[in-house]
Amino acid sequence: MTPTSQQLHDWDKHYVWHAFTQMACYEPLIIESAEGCELIDTEGRRLIDGVSSMWCNVHGHRHPTIDAAIQTQLGKVAHVTNLGCSNSTTIQLAKRLAELTPADLDHVFFCSDGASALEVAIKLAFQYWHQCKNPKPQKTSYIGFEDAYHGDTIGTISVGGVDRFNAVFQPLMFPVHRLPIPDRRVPNKETSCQHHLQMLEETLAKHHESIAAVVIEPLVLGAAGMIMQPAGYLRGVRDLTQKYDVLMIADEVAVGMGRTGTMFGCQQEDVVPDILCLGKGLSGGYLPMSAAIATTEIWNAYLGDFAAAKQLCHGHTFGGNPLSAAAAMATLDVFEQEDTLAQLPAKIQRIAQHLSRLAEHPHVGDARQYGMIAAVELVKNHETGEHFPWTERHGHQVCQYALQHGLWIRPLGDVIVIMPPLAVSMEQIDTMCEVIARAVDHVTLSKASRP
Ligand SMILES: *Cc1c(COP(=O)(O)O)cnc(C)c1O
Repeated sequence: MTPTSQQLHDWDKHYVWHAFTQMACYEPLIIESAEGCELIDTEGRRLIDGVSSMWCNVHGHRHPTIDAAIQTQLGKVAHVTNLGCSNSTTIQLAKRLAELTPADLDHVFFCSDGASALEVAIKLAFQYWHQCKNPKPQKTSYIGFEDAYHGDTIGTISVGGVDRFNAVFQPLMFPVHRLPIPDRRVPNKETSCQHHLQMLEETLAKHHESIAAVVIEPLVLGAAGMIMQPAGYLRGVRDLTQKYDVLMIADEVAVGMGRTGTMFGCQQEDVVPDILCLGKGLSGGYLPMSAAIATTEIWNAYLGDFAAAKQLCHGHTFGGNPLSAAAAMATLDVFEQEDTLAQLPAKIQRIAQHLSRLAEHPHVGDARQYGMIAAVELVKNHETGEHFPWTERHGHQVCQYALQHGLWIRPLGDVIVIMPPLAVSMEQIDTMCEVIARAVDHVTLSKASRP
């Protein structure tokens, strides 16, 4: 018997332990189906998917090309292990990613989640220094950034810096050198960028002999609240890592796959990292798939006789899963067929127009954007930038209002994230931004006017 919506609601609250959710006050939103950039819930409500189903959907839901590719793959085989074995779809995907990524980022280690790709990258960098031409096994430490997010496993929370998520796990985490990252909002971007690069250089000058890698979210700190770096910072970080012989791990789980306007975020500043991590949008947001893509230099350090035991002893059961690979191949096909990247400048500009209006709102502190990633930060006081008390959950209230008006979005505290699928239409952009403007009015002004 098909469960009723009430049953699903009750079972969801009781049996499913949701991520990052206080289950005691969780109110289910149950999606039954989707079409393009819209989600349809069990009540038949249509909602614009304003955050790409957690930043991962690229070409819209139920895209015929991607659906067909998965179905075709299902007609062959659903799963083949990656451990000493392969399948034709995953092989072709690896070759295609190698060709698409800059320079000699040619060797693809597949995993299932963003966090596991970062774990692999962290281990790859560590073991590299034991096995490279001039081994430096004392390089065992990392540089990470304040508020950076790389996933929720023990290794990734160690290099990450979101204290409010991780404070309780501190005793389990390994120590890293943690530095602040410049925020493009500060009045003098140039000075701030130089100042932060100087801090990085000081740390590298002092500790480079013990540092294996710098781990960075290029251009935008996602989970931190879409904090955007000033132009030139990423380039500067790359130059310094090269100067001090430290590897660079670029976590493009959020910014990769076209989000910034180029296929990879690093391309915005002509940067080639040593290891590039992809996730979220890699399969079009369809199926779990992530990758750590390494340069030939790193790959070579792992080659040798069997007895030399230089291989990476790491693997995930579903790494390189052929169904996910088929979805990823089709995602790349659609980028070509629909000329997705060429459509973006007009959409990016349209979002910018809306943001410039939103930025003037008395309770908007800042409306910022990098390509197809946008954020509207709510504040108590537009002039001073004073925040609302976090317990009042203004961000959440704005999203609740939006939900009642046909838009699904998820906030990061009081930061409203706008990150629709790249396939979003101009009309949907207009609707989204108009609903958000009304929601901000509703939540902030109605209260302010109360006695
Ligand atoms: C989402 C995210 C991750 C973690 O990916 P999961 O698939 O959730 O494990 C890592 N890094 C960044 C930048 C992310 O946005």
